[in-house]
Amino acid sequence: MLDFTELRAYRAMLNLARSPKEAVEMEQMRAITQNIVPLYFLISASAVGLGGNFYGQAPDIMTVGVPLVAVLVSLWRVTKWWGAEKRLAEPDNARRNLRQLEGFTIILFAMLAVWVAMFLPYSSDIQVTYLSFFTAFTGAAATLCALSRPRMVAITLSLTLLQFCVMFMGQAPRYYLFTAIQLAATYFVFFLASRSYNRRLIQGVMLHYQLKNESARTARLSETNRQLALSDTLTGLPNRRSFFEEIDRVIGECGPDCLPVVGLIDLDGFKPINDVYGHAAGDAVLVETATRLTRVIGSENRVARLGGDEFAYILPPETSPEAARLIAERVVNVFLRPFRLPTNDTSRVSASVGYSSRVLNARTSRDLVAQADFALFRAKEVSVGHAVEFSAEHAKTQQREALVQQCFRSADLEEEIRLVFQPIVDSSTGTVVRFEALARWTHPEIGIVGPDEFVAVAEKAGMTHLMTRSVFRKAIRQLREWPDSVQLTVNLSAQDIISRDTTEELVSMLMAEEPSLCERLCLEVTETSLLSDTAEARYNLERFRQLGLKIALDDFGTGYSSLRYLQDFDFDVVKIDRTFIQSQDVRAHGFGLVATIQQLCRSMAIDCVVEGVETFEQLQYARSAGCRYIQGYFYSRPLEADAASAYFPGAGGFTPFSGLARTGGRNVA
Ligand code: C2E
Ligand code: CA
Ligand code: CA
Repeated sequence: MLDFTELRAYRAMLNLARSPKEAVEMEQMRAITQNIVPLYFLISASAVGLGGNFYGQAPDIMTVGVPLVAVLVSLWRVTKWWGAEKRLAEPDNARRNLRQLEGFTIILFAMLAVWVAMFLPYSSDIQVTYLSFFTAFTGAAATLCALSRPRMVAITLSLTLLQFCVMFMGQAPRYYLFTAIQLAATYFVFFLASRSYNRRLIQGVMLHYQLKNESARTARLSETNRQLALSDTLTGLPNRRSFFEEIDRVIGECGPDCLPVVGLIDLDGFKPINDVYGHAAGDAVLVETATRLTRVIGSENRVARLGGDEFAYILPPETSPEAARLIAERVVNVFLRPFRLPTNDTSRVSASVGYSSRVLNARTSRDLVAQADFALFRAKEVSVGHAVEFSAEHAKTQQREALVQQCFRSADLEEEIRLVFQPIVDSSTGTVVRFEALARWTHPEIGIVGPDEFVAVAEKAGMTHLMTRSVFRKAIRQLREWPDSVQLTVNLSAQDIISRDTTEELVSMLMAEEPSLCERLCLEVTETSLLSDTAEARYNLERFRQLGLKIALDDFGTGYSSLRYLQDFDFDVVKIDRTFIQSQDVRAHGFGLVATIQQLCRSMAIDCVVEGVETFEQLQYARSAGCRYIQGYFYSRPLEADAASAYFPGAGGFTPFSGLARTGGRNVA
């Protein structure tokens, strides 16, 4: 049975051949080589047998000398061929050896023939018969050793037959003629066997070639697949996987002490292009972005598209901090030029960039990307079109976030989250139209964590649904306890709005309640949270609306402030972000905007709430811009449930605006 080492050697040998013909020759030679030791054993034994048979009758040189030489030569040849298989794994060697072997065999046969013929004068009749058998058998046996090479078989058997006829036919023609005929038939069968053996051998080799070709094709295909799996089909840039692999490769090349700079780029304003001008326009912007970025970053494989409108780049470890900063700024600046769309419109997109630092504890690709991601988050917070490097302060915040996240994961939110309620006031009458439920989290170890902090952490951990579920349950419980005239508004996170599961869970909670309770609830969503999957958000919000809930657009003015969303989503309430009313030069900028939004909302029959009103002056601005509904510290900070009851409709309230004007802004409840 063939063992695997032999099979491996066989494959290795075939792999060396430059053509199938060469491979066949190598395999023939290998098959012959395997029989060469028995062949020389046969030659030695036959020579000794022949010599022994005539010992004392023929001269010693023929009976002892020649066999001795034959044995010695055989021994010498055997040592030469021993282990020759490995040496033969060389195409040129195999061919040369095959030719040599053929020549050598013919010479050997000729010498043997001469030697046998020399015994004839010393032979009795029976010894002549022995000589004829010797000739016939030795020739045939020797031939068997070369079975893989039909040509050699044909030559040696023909020579043997010829020798047989020439040498013995004269001795007893009839007897030897018939023996020769039988011999010829036998030899012919030998030849046929050799040919079919050879055919098998060729088939084996060809099979190997076929498999080799197929596996080469498979390898090519899998390489193509790999390329596809590693690149982004739209822009042709490396994709996320390939990007991480490239960072790992760079780190692997020069170790964790010399790190590349990793930059993440987030496009701002891309989504509306997709929505307004269609996907072809969006695609064109992405392709153009890829081109512009590649131009700035330079060499190939250094810019990647991580998905959607997220791009990234890698700078080699030798990049100086100053160069890294300049490149990040250049990346931001390539977006200053507007994009020309296939529709011939032009549109603007801006980019925020966050990039990693190499001095702050990063070791792996994951660390670097996390740093860049954090810096990007910060860059977007500052304002659009900024580049930010990960800093020591970021590292501290990141640590704190990790701690908060860890605590959040193991928190008993039902127990640890409570709600406070901030009134939203109709400034004309001083009555509270509804309360906004705001979550407060107190953890047994790290204490009070502000919503700005834990909401962000929950969002990053993809766990907002746990928080929302708990907030919802508490809000519903509160509504059940409070009089029917009290209304509540609850915040939904971006992830909740686009999650069918969360929506269904909340909807089934609401369905267990009286329909009138649902009508007292309003949901606040932000514009940015609608962007990632507008269709899903619309569907889910519609589910709530069917139950009688109202929907408010929160923090209006901080996102795209797209009027289209305002119309599309059919909001009941719009809340103008506090940055407008609190801006230093509210008179110059904020005021006009607040007034415009207010007018727009009025024309669309949407209630408009101004958030963050802290002073009487701000209230006056809001009022002069036409705003009636106000939320802010001027009226009240978020209150505990008990304290909130003092402001329920009918239980009192705040001073109407007209009264405030008289008291000089003193808000006496
Ligand atoms: P938001 O939805 O815009 O809520 C209003 C935030 O502004 C509240 O902060 C409120 O205390 C604060 N605020 C109200 N009036 C004034 C004012 O006159 N001046 C100033 N400077 N701030 C004022 P809070 O409670 O810290 O909540 C911060 C944010 O955390 C909320 O912003 C909201 O986005 C999020 N959040 C709070 N509770 C929840 C919740 O239950 N679920 C979700 N998803 N997010 C929540
Ligand atoms: Ca809110
Ligand atoms: Ca808000």
